[in-house]
Amino acid sequence: MSGLALDSKVVLITGGARGIGKGMAQAFLEAGAKVMVADLGPGGLANWDYKLAGDDELSQTVAELSPLGSIEATPVDVTNKSSCTAAVAATVKAFGGLDVLVNNAGVVQSGSLADFSEAHWDQTFAVNSKGLFLMSQAALPHLHSAASATTSACIINTASIAGKQGYPNMAAYCGSKFAAIGITQSLANELANDNIRVNAICPGMVGTAMWLEHLLPSSPGSNTNKDQDFETMMAQTIPLGRPQTAQDMGQAAVYLASANNVTGVALNVAGGFEMH
Ligand code: NAD
Repeated sequence: MSGLALDSKVVLITGGARGIGKGMAQAFLEAGAKVMVADLGPGGLANWDYKLAGDDELSQTVAELSPLGSIEATPVDVTNKSSCTAAVAATVKAFGGLDVLVNNAGVVQSGSLADFSEAHWDQTFAVNSKGLFLMSQAALPHLHSAASATTSACIINTASIAGKQGYPNMAAYCGSKFAAIGITQSLANELANDNIRVNAICPGMVGTAMWLEHLLPSSPGSNTNKDQDFETMMAQTIPLGRPQTAQDMGQAAVYLASANNVTGVALNVAGGFEMH
């Protein structure tokens, strides 16, 4: 017994190649868990506004984090049912089971109602909402096997503060994240008798590709300037005086994975920016 909070638990994280998912992978490894990071591999969605993670980022993350513990990678497209089944099967094959599913993969696309494309609308909901259904359904038999009267299994969905408040030019993203919270509450009720807990994390503003490559009003200059612009903007906006980090999200995910009597919550990790 190492005494770590999640000693030998098996965790599957979608969108795990980078950003918030990578921060969660690190936190789970530090808590003693075995981690499968899953993300778009070769042939992933190419025609999105900003670059999504490729095979290179997935293998780079495994190389970087492997000194911390057992970590492997598998490709997944969370909009595709057979791909979700394959990612779950790869996890069970690698580590012998599945205790915690983290539905973290997500995409953002902003734009006015007048100009927003149907293709962008459909893909946003396919990843951010339907992806939770497909991955959770694929994982369910293994979560059932992992859960007992005394030990819970769990699902953690990365929703957003945009799942609690609508923002202009964000109808697709906000709608898909409100849906993520609704799915969380519904499954939490449905699976409580089986001791499978279902919770959501609502990140505030984290300086990942979503912000730096898409949402941040474009500023001339390098990525360094973008990072600084983001830090300054969020320091002025967020009550606790700084943007959130992937590590903040990792800490929240480990908490939810180990909080045995917590289910159905949508936990803001937003420095006080969203309080409902
Ligand atoms: P990110 O773009 O770095 O990470 C998202 C990951 O999801 C990428 O690695 C991408 O390749 C992957 N992905 C996209 N489509 C996929 C698909 N079909 N199948 C599998 N993987 C897919 O951005 P991030 O900020 O780390 O986002 C992680 C989660 O956090 C998302 O659900 C996002 O909506 C949510 N979120 C982010 C913020 C923020 O401020 N960055 C705030 C609130 C919520």
